[in-house]
Amino acid sequence: MSAYARERLDLRGLVLARRPYGEADLFLTILNPERGLLELGARGIRRQRQGQAAAVELAVLSRFQVFDYRGRLRVDQAELEYGFPGLRQDIVRLTAAGVLAELSCDLFADASVEQAAPLWELLLHAFHALEEGPEERLRLTLDVAVLRLLALGGFPQRYDACVLCGRLLPEGAGGVWSFADHGLLCRVHEKAEMGRLETEHRAPPVMALSPALLRALVWYQEAPPSRLFQTQMSPGAKAVFHAFVRELVGWTVERPGRSWQLLGDLIQFQREAVWPRREVREDEGENRGESEGETPGQRLKETPGDIPN
Ligand SMILES: [Zn+2]
Repeated sequence: MSAYARERLDLRGLVLARRPYGEADLFLTILNPERGLLELGARGIRRQRQGQAAAVELAVLSRFQVFDYRGRLRVDQAELEYGFPGLRQDIVRLTAAGVLAELSCDLFADASVEQAAPLWELLLHAFHALEEGPEERLRLTLDVAVLRLLALGGFPQRYDACVLCGRLLPEGAGGVWSFADHGLLCRVHEKAEMGRLETEHRAPPVMALSPALLRALVWYQEAPPSRLFQTQMSPGAKAVFHAFVRELVGWTVERPGRSWQLLGDLIQFQREAVWPRREVREDEGENRGESEGETPGQRLKETPGDIPN
């Protein structure tokens, strides 16, 4: 092959990150189901006609004609295949998809190609669930997708045994999760851990998980992605699950992404805009959304903050 030889590739990809540079250029990170995460350079693409620009938005599915210059991939043509319009009509939904995209880039930067297909399947289902699902379910959808992303990205959690000694926990009894140890603790290690933290005068980073929540966690880790986002959860369980997932991410990923912050800001902004003089507690909003005798329209209007801070 001569120094000037270049290979032309036809790649499908989900756009997971875009970094503009110069006046009209873009670096893209896409997920391809066969090759995993790929970095693409797209020269002049922001100056081109509408079709090309739409094909390089965040969280779209596109087809890329790419030249491979000795390992550097340059976009020649980009064509939108599916733009997830439901995400684009709602900034909270789009930002939630952004959280998943950002977390994927973080967790799968050095992933093997074997991880590409399951990640692809998960993200497509998650983006669909985020664009089509009812507003009161968005937070659960995001939490479930995040939990599954962590599992795929090499942080599989065991929900049946002590993480320190491997002893199986009594079935149906619930358990205490230690974030510092990345797992459940048996009685012996729970006592030891609590004692250690008490002497250090620190709040123990542990959480009691009910048997029902443990069963749900196992299911969310193993269920096929096509069924993952159809589950229900009581408001109380959802609140605990949400706190668990948020804490788990904090202990697993080194720096929480910008999208998390943005999502929190957006929800705060919406709350203040809708209820300028009233404080709305998270659990209150959730309970009201589930109560009877409301029309779906009212419910949507009154529960804008059903997504993590
Ligand atoms: Zn133990």
